[in-house]
Amino acid sequence: MSNARVLADLLVSAGPGGTVVFTGAGVSTESGIPDFRSPGGIWSRYAPIMYQDYLRDPLMRQESWRRGLESYASMATALPNAAHLAIAEWFAAGLVRSVVTQNIDGLHQRAGLPDSAVIELHGNAHFVECLGCARRFDRLAVQARVEAGELDPPCPSCGGILKTTTVSFGQPMPVAEVEAAQRLHSSAALCLVVGSSMVVYPAATLPEHTVEAGGRLAIVNQTETHLDHLATLVAREPAAVLLGETATLLDRVQSDGSR
Ligand SMILES: [Zn+2]
Repeated sequence: MSNARVLADLLVSAGPGGTVVFTGAGVSTESGIPDFRSPGGIWSRYAPIMYQDYLRDPLMRQESWRRGLESYASMATALPNAAHLAIAEWFAAGLVRSVVTQNIDGLHQRAGLPDSAVIELHGNAHFVECLGCARRFDRLAVQARVEAGELDPPCPSCGGILKTTTVSFGQPMPVAEVEAAQRLHSSAALCLVVGSSMVVYPAATLPEHTVEAGGRLAIVNQTETHLDHLATLVAREPAAVLLGETATLLDRVQSDGSR
């Protein structure tokens, strides 16, 4: 049986709303978004800017905005690939309850998922928020101010510090999001991991919640993971290829009404 067939069967047998999808950088590589952690990625070329330094040092904020002009360029215009589209289709069909993601690229929403169905553990790179009054801005609008010469642009309402709505190094994980992700994983009949090696917390432990509660685990990732031995399906194909094939199979099942 092909991996696509196995995955299609797992999704169907998990039942309505039975699947939680966990995604990492690998779901977005085919959308042209580099894995920041990979060799040559931005995090390997620059020392990270710690959250506390961002808050206290205007020079760190200037550096952060300067880096952002470069790192955000590919993300601003990125389009969802076949993997994002398949997941959105399964959500619309009632199979997938929610997506939990380590990604900050917003591509699940661009594929059609509502914000309420996406839990972003590391935030979202498309917005900027004032740390004083919580007013939100489009990132491109703030970057335009940087390019026009405001090296550390303040909030136009209250003069507070602006920061992208992403979780920085040294910044605590968002508690509500982590707890919601744990609840979802504990109650899912199937956890489908796509493009994550599950190395960093809480990714490293979330899928185990599903298995411990009696659910099943499917892993679509190009490299080995420490949870492979718990999975019903381990697939090494590129996410866009395998999820695209699986979506085609499920479409056929739905239109035939039988297999
Ligand atoms: Zn403000």
